[in-house]
Amino acid sequence: MKKLISVLVLTAVAFAAQAGTSFKLLSVGDNVDAAALRDYMQEQGGVAVELGGAYAPADPAAALDAIGRAAVADTADDATYAVILYGRFGTDRPQGVCLPAERFAILNLDRLESAGDPAKVGRRAGQEGLRVMSMLLDMPMCPFPLCVLVGYQKTEDLDRMSGNFCPPCHEQFLKTAADKGLELLPAPAAD
Ligand SMILES: [Zn+2]
Repeated sequence: MKKLISVLVLTAVAFAAQAGTSFKLLSVGDNVDAAALRDYMQEQGGVAVELGGAYAPADPAAALDAIGRAAVADTADDATYAVILYGRFGTDRPQGVCLPAERFAILNLDRLESAGDPAKVGRRAGQEGLRVMSMLLDMPMCPFPLCVLVGYQKTEDLDRMSGNFCPPCHEQFLKTAADKGLELLPAPAAD
């Protein structure tokens, strides 16, 4: 009987692994269009991004890495590959923190929204979403200028950059995601 139970447990574990993990997107505070960000990251990335809803840090004044760490402890489950938090943490705090070994990234929309051009924050936030997903998969930056993974200096540089992966990076992104057990989405039908 004991052996039978073990077999059943193993079967259940194998089934769960087949379903794949995904990124979990959390929003901290108001004015975060999480659904639009999720759609963009799924469309451009081709991997599953789960909407994790609102997250209220126990200590909103804590350092961003502490908030990210707590969010992983509070919300990650077996189906979570990594947690990505978007929030407004003030212009006096970093633009973001990404710690692949701890499976989270936290992005500060207040820093992405430089003075005079608040409308650009949505595009920049999507670009940063693609960038942190790649970092969480341990992918390197890209030397190709027409790729969202090229290095940049200032926030405004994002507006001159591509909003998506170059073809080799996207191929690498999907391959790495599959290797790490993430759920891939069906490729969109060709026009
Ligand atoms: Zn590239």
